[in-house]
Order: sequence, then structure tokens, then C-alpha cells
Amino acid sequence: MKSSIPTEPIGSIPRSKTLIAAYKKYQKGELDFLTLNELAEKETLQVVRELEALGCPVISDGEQRKFDGFAHYCLHNSKSYSKEGLEVSFSDGHKRVFAPHLKVPPFKYEQTADVFLKFALQHAHVPVKQAVISPSMLSLVYPAKGIESYNHEQFINDLIEQHVAEVRRCLDLGAHKVQIDFTEARLSIKYDPSGDMLNSFVELINKCLAHFNDEEIQKIGIHTCPGADVDCTHSAEVDYKHLLPTLFKINAGNFYVAMRSEQNPRKALRLIGHVIRPFQRVFIGVTDPNNKTPETPEEVCELILQAAEFIPLEQLGTTDDCGFSPFLDDASTNRELVYQKISARLEGTRLAEKILFSGSSHR
Ligand SMILES: [Zn+2]
Repeated sequence: MKSSIPTEPIGSIPRSKTLIAAYKKYQKGELDFLTLNELAEKETLQVVRELEALGCPVISDGEQRKFDGFAHYCLHNSKSYSKEGLEVSFSDGHKRVFAPHLKVPPFKYEQTADVFLKFALQHAHVPVKQAVISPSMLSLVYPAKGIESYNHEQFINDLIEQHVAEVRRCLDLGAHKVQIDFTEARLSIKYDPSGDMLNSFVELINKCLAHFNDEEIQKIGIHTCPGADVDCTHSAEVDYKHLLPTLFKINAGNFYVAMRSEQNPRKALRLIGHVIRPFQRVFIGVTDPNNKTPETPEEVCELILQAAEFIPLEQLGTTDDCGFSPFLDDASTNRELVYQKISARLEGTRLAEKILFSGSSHR
């Protein structure tokens, strides 16, 4: 058995004040896209260097170039969408549009995450993972009233093709993992307590994953969380028992599951132990992006030891509960705190490894 617990970030790192200001100027038409993009590339280099300096064995590009946030970066700058769409309410009452409605078919990505990955890979010295948005989130851009010249089936076919191509290009470039952000999983239970909506999301994701072979599936992961924007969640009140058994039916090799912020992590970990399948690994969230207090390595270690009571060591990993700023203009968390949290994750994971693998060196 390999004596290590893999640890990976989710994706986003808070943008600098300079980048946020530049984006706001760009939105007002006072700055061109090329200049904004050049600045974001520079910021990406900075983030890559900072994450490497912390000793991260796997990094992301910090999502500095996902200008419209994690949910619809791929529709950036397109005139085919309405300003309205699926609006999600967070726990303090603020709202974000997660899926703007499609007005002008056909559906197609304007920007793809492999472009961000390619840039990061050119400059990184350690493996880089890439987060992409789930096809289920993007399925919500199709308006309920339909589009006359473009039926839902045509739309779904185009969506699957675009999503699969994005994931494939990331894998071909050498992504350490491709993580499908599935924040709407837990949220869907709030919208539809029967679970039908969640089931249909899982079905759509599995349709996409059917395009990949076993080796590729081992590099594909699913992220679930209760949301993280301006230190607020959108679905923390939904009990994991309504989500996890269905979630692990997704035929992905990896799951990134928020755990630090759970009220009863023990119950959730036990449940994961029951529903995880042999070819799957679960990365447990050990830091909470919505909490201003940095976790200590000891607290991180304790949560991992608890997880190890229910989940086989060879199927366990660690991560953060969510990205640290999934939306570009979220300035609620500073990078210094984020890096304290990431350091605690790294150190706590090493502490747990020492305890969990001691005595197993003869194997
Ligand atoms: Zn998340």
C-alpha cells in the first residue's frame, strides 16, 4: 500500500484588488478584454508560485481567469444569453445568477477551461488539476418555456458534446485531475425534495462520463459543497443523507466532499463508508472557506483520523470544503488566511499519514 494520503485544492484563490478593479472597469467598457486577460495571466503566475511555495503537491491556477465565476465562465462575453436566469439565494439573502438563460441557439462554449490549464501547466513545477463546470448546471440555461427552433433534446446533445470535449482536452493536456463542479447537487434537494432533479443531474453526468475509459475515469472527480460566497452557503441545511447515496452513483473515480463545515461529520463519514464503491476515492474537505478562523494541523488530522474509521485508507484523500472565492469579485477572504488554511491542510494530512501508516511499513 502506498503510504500517503493525497491532498488537492478545489480551485479558486481570492483575486487581487487590482484584478477585481480591472474586471469592474472591463464590465463598464473602460478596459479591453486583452488587457484584462493579460493581467489575469500575470495573477495566475503569482498564484502558481505562491501555491508551490506552500509546498502543495497538486495545485490549480486559482481560477484567476474565470471572470464570470465557476458556474458559467464558459459563456463569457456571449450575447446569446439573457441577464436573467437561475438565481441562487445565499444564507445572508444575497443572490447570484448561476445559469443565465439561453436566448440564441445553438448552445456552445465561448471559453473553455483547458485554455486556463494549458497556461498554468506551462509555468507550474508540480501537477495541476482543472475544475470545470458540470453539464447539469449548464442544463439549467435552457429556459423552461423552451426555444422554438431548438428543442431540449438538441440542446442536451450539444451540451454533452461541449462538456465531454472540454474534459477530454484537459485530460489530453495532462491534467492531474479534472474536477466537475457540482455545487447544484445539494441545492437541488432544496428545490426538489423528491430527489428527481438530483437523479436527472446524475443521469446527465453519467451520460457524459460514459465517453471515458476506466483509466480516464480515475482522473475525473466530482465536487459537492453547500456553496461558498462572501462567507455564506446556499444549501448547508440539506442533510447529506438525501444527497450522498445518489451522488456516489456517479461513475467518477474521485469525489471532493465538503466536511469541515458539517454539523455532524461523523454521521456523514459513516454514510460515505457505506456508499463509496471500490474504484472511487473520496477527498474529505478539512478546511472551511466560509470561516475566518484558520484550522490547526491538529484539527485537520483529527478529522482525517475520524474519516479513516469508516473509509479505507487507499480510498481517502483531503481537500478544502470549497474554492476560496468561486466568484471573481468576492473579496471577503484575504489570501493570507487562505494560505494559512491550505498550510494546515498540508501539515494536518502529513500528521495523519504518520499516525495511520505507522506500523504498516512492513507491508
Ligand atoms: Zn464548492
